Amino acid sequence: MNPHSARTAVRRRDFLAGSLCAFSWTMLEAGGLPAIAQSPPSAGPGSPRLIEDLVAANRILADQGIVDAFGHVSARHDTNPNRYFLSRSLAPGLVTTQDLIEYDLDSNAVNASGRAQYSERFIHGEIYKARADVRAVVHAHAPAVVPFGVSTVPLRPVSHMAAFIGDRVPIFDIRTAAGMTDMLVKDAARGHALAAALADRPAVLMRGHGMTVVGPALPFAVGRAIYLEANARIQLQAMALGGPVTYLDPAEAKAVMDSGENRSYERAWELWKQKVQAK
Ligand SMILES: [Zn+2]
Repeated sequence: MNPHSARTAVRRRDFLAGSLCAFSWTMLEAGGLPAIAQSPPSAGPGSPRLIEDLVAANRILADQGIVDAFGHVSARHDTNPNRYFLSRSLAPGLVTTQDLIEYDLDSNAVNASGRAQYSERFIHGEIYKARADVRAVVHAHAPAVVPFGVSTVPLRPVSHMAAFIGDRVPIFDIRTAAGMTDMLVKDAARGHALAAALADRPAVLMRGHGMTVVGPALPFAVGRAIYLEANARIQLQAMALGGPVTYLDPAEAKAVMDSGENRSYERAWELWKQKVQAK
């Protein structure tokens, strides 16, 4: 099949899938069919580069100690902004291409095929819904950031590599949003509340839980997660020394960002990716 025929076939398949789905939902709403679980239509495969980078992002976050058995990273679909890719429920260090699942922004799986899913996938869907600029989301339980979510000491930039923090990192308290819970963002309402706490920022701390970090591409979300965790460790060390700590002035943080945030993480991404792909 030549490339043009292939594209036409994909379009025809997507159209048919969309029509079938719309038909089914209409019938369901009219009470014409028994209520059976419906999967949203696929937007087709992501680009090979996106899929490769998402697998690499999982491995990089594990390699850099930002995630362990828990935590996850997603990427928005590169041709349909209403879809995103996230692994099935699996330790990020083990993720391969075959483990990725396509989701709609309500976090309904397109192709789970019976595979276990992350209960906190709503973090991703609700942020993509709220933030058109976000194309990648990292959620992690990195221990170094947790103290700043449970104390009155704000996490602030002490390193130029974390200038994206600006003047502060907001804190999401799930108790305020949903009362006494198991602490997990495992439904759309909790995900929506988390996205509201994140607002237009690059990161949000989650009280007693961890952090969620976003970016306009995978290298940004992954790089910010890595340097946010590093900044937390450096700040804890600086504070442990006992004297006053000098943080980046907001004007300095802005100047760093204006000069190109860590050169778009390009040099770091190349290194991190090669390191995990050599394993
Ligand atoms: Zn979590």
